[in-house]
Amino acid sequence: MAELRWNPIQGQWIIVAAHRRNRPHRPKEWCPFCPGSGKVPDGYDVYAYPNDFPSLMENPPEPDVESSPISPVDTLRGACEVILYSPEHEATLADLHLDHLRKLIDLWRERYETLGSKDFVNYVLIFENRGDVIGVTITHPHGQIYAYPFVPPRPQRELANEEKYWVDRGRCLCCDIIDSEKDNGRRIIVDNPHFIAFVPFFAAYPYEVHLYPKRHLQSLSDLTSEEANSFAKTLKAVVRKYDNLFDMTFPYMMIFSQKPTDGGAYLYHHFRVEFYPPLMDEKNIRYIAGGETGSGVQVNPTDIEAKARELRLGAPEKSE
Ligand SMILES: [Zn+2]
Ligand SMILES: [Zn+2]
Repeated sequence: MAELRWNPIQGQWIIVAAHRRNRPHRPKEWCPFCPGSGKVPDGYDVYAYPNDFPSLMENPPEPDVESSPISPVDTLRGACEVILYSPEHEATLADLHLDHLRKLIDLWRERYETLGSKDFVNYVLIFENRGDVIGVTITHPHGQIYAYPFVPPRPQRELANEEKYWVDRGRCLCCDIIDSEKDNGRRIIVDNPHFIAFVPFFAAYPYEVHLYPKRHLQSLSDLTSEEANSFAKTLKAVVRKYDNLFDMTFPYMMIFSQKPTDGGAYLYHHFRVEFYPPLMDEKNIRYIAGGETGSGVQVNPTDIEAKARELRLGAPEKSE
């Protein structure tokens, strides 16, 4: 069973990808992403690998159920790729050399452009799930790309807010957020000539970090070569802050926010990378429970400025 089903109450699609449950049982030691596995080239630095169990497919099967006015159904047209960061099984993003990270950034950009240029792809989401608490089963350093046939609801809502601010005030919402964070200064994690990373004023997750280019640009495609190098440095610095804090490979969801690939200009959009770690502290997981799911209102149970200070200084503070 593989199809899109429409939820008319939420007004959004859900992906049904029941075929994903039939994943073969892998031998514990065997890693498909290591050179020599037969699944990837024997020599690579970074590599885009078609997902073996895609949620979205270039040639999707026909839906298993009939569409009806109250239950619209569509095919799962799109693409899913795995982006391998390094041939080294034990490497982490924070360990990679800057020229290696630059290759990764160039690959992300190329896949964003190539997938985005397909007529059935309107939104390309680059992301990484890191850590077993997020359900990652293969520890080999990698991220993913989902290419959607529509602009998903979260980016849609963000773009609508960015557009409204742009129209109402003639400025970019995120450029103003960056200025406000710089003025305040208490939540900044990394600040260099081209990029800035901070725990946003409105963080919903403890240790949530947003990373922005200081120049107003819409996607990876707009980075100059100098900015791309600086992006590599900033990304490494942020992940290193995470890994240093509790001296562990810190789990997170990393999400790239780029303009849709439906042909629109989206001049009001400001490219960014958002990190959502699922931990409250070293040991405790941040669960999303009934109040938050039911209301859509998230609860951050931590002192946001203190969490920023911990990340900046690399020193956890005692929680009461
Ligand atoms: Zn591996
Ligand atoms: Zn901007």
